[in-house]
Amino acid sequence: MTDQVRARRLDPFGTTIFSEMTALAIQHGAVNLAQGFPDFEGPPSMVEAVIRALRAGENQYVRSQGHLRLVRALATRQRERYGLDYDAEREIAVFSGATEGLMSAVLGLVNPGDEVILLEPYYDSYPVCVAMAGGVTRYLPLRFPAFEVNFDELASLFNERTRLLLLNSPHNPTGKVLSAAELEGIAALCRHHDVLVVTDEVYEHLTYGDAVHVPMATLPGMRERTLTISSAGKTFSFTGWKVGWAFGPAPLVAAAQAAHQYVTFCTPGALQIGVAEALESCGADFYAALRSDYQSRRHFLVERLAALGFRVAPPQGTYFVLADFTPVWSGGDDLAFARYLTRACGVAAIPPSVFYRAAPEEGRRLVRFAFCKRRATLEAAAERLRKLAAGNDRPVDEL
Ligand code: PMP
Ligand code: GLN
Repeated sequence: MTDQVRARRLDPFGTTIFSEMTALAIQHGAVNLAQGFPDFEGPPSMVEAVIRALRAGENQYVRSQGHLRLVRALATRQRERYGLDYDAEREIAVFSGATEGLMSAVLGLVNPGDEVILLEPYYDSYPVCVAMAGGVTRYLPLRFPAFEVNFDELASLFNERTRLLLLNSPHNPTGKVLSAAELEGIAALCRHHDVLVVTDEVYEHLTYGDAVHVPMATLPGMRERTLTISSAGKTFSFTGWKVGWAFGPAPLVAAAQAAHQYVTFCTPGALQIGVAEALESCGADFYAALRSDYQSRRHFLVERLAALGFRVAPPQGTYFVLADFTPVWSGGDDLAFARYLTRACGVAAIPPSVFYRAAPEEGRRLVRFAFCKRRATLEAAAERLRKLAAGNDRPVDEL
């Protein structure tokens, strides 16, 4: 079979970097700080709840829009945490991960030829969602190390074809948490141009220091034009469960649901019950402990990278850190460095230039490390990274 078999709209995308770097990590026995998944378990009570549900016969299709127990738990959570009221049965839908929620939302909301604005570096599935819908992507680069929104640049991307702005905060891979002023500036443009917003808030609980996550839907005039997407993967450290959801006004949720019913139809019921159980039982202490565990992992990795000579942008949120590697290595671009690190040092990381389209040069000197790992894993990685300090500057081909 040749590549010609594949539909042309997928041609620009190739294999996702997450699969590629994890395969390379396995091949070289490297510590995997590339793909963002925890190497520790989430709450055992969630696993028990799923097992109980399976044994009790939760083994058939469930309601396509989501198990009633889960959508009700989500409605309560969103009201208690953010003061946002959503009707559990009409304004919430459950998807197989945020990934499917995003794809269904874009397929349900974007017509061929509509324009969608993305911040770059972007999460890698976003441009694919837009391509599948036949839309056109426009990009706003965020620049290392502050990743501030340039409002002149952003304003210039809006026109009468703009349908949607797809936002992610806390932002993967930069760790940026959009400030209240930035959110308000973005909201004002969307209101002015009558543009919808899809926000990806999967890292909503992972913010550090003074950074506060403010959902776009809480801003004046934004609830009615915003579809808020999140998932259980990061918050409960079970990325493999793939239980995600969306909150929004009924017409926006119905649009995403219209696609979802033909993409997966429904998400496994027992896993939905496991997540409902966690939402019902985890109090403020759970979220505080999650944040403080991540805060110390972040502190450890940021310190070690800085001590090795990387120029680090300490993340305000997420479980990723972006660093400029050029002070410690000059053998090539980010793709060469990520391969070199994996093969020569035994640490896998992500080369972020693949997350840029308008300004790829921004990513070529950067590398992304994930710190959703046990302390021992981070220590092993830091120890291996010391090989860099030995002045090992040979190009990867010589290895
Ligand atoms: N959005 C962002 C920004 C992510 O980093 C991820 C990574 N896991 C996802 C969406 C996908 O979430 P899920 O695993 O729930 O599909
Ligand atoms: N969100 C994860 C990351 O950014 C990866 C998800 C995936 O592998 N698709 O590393």
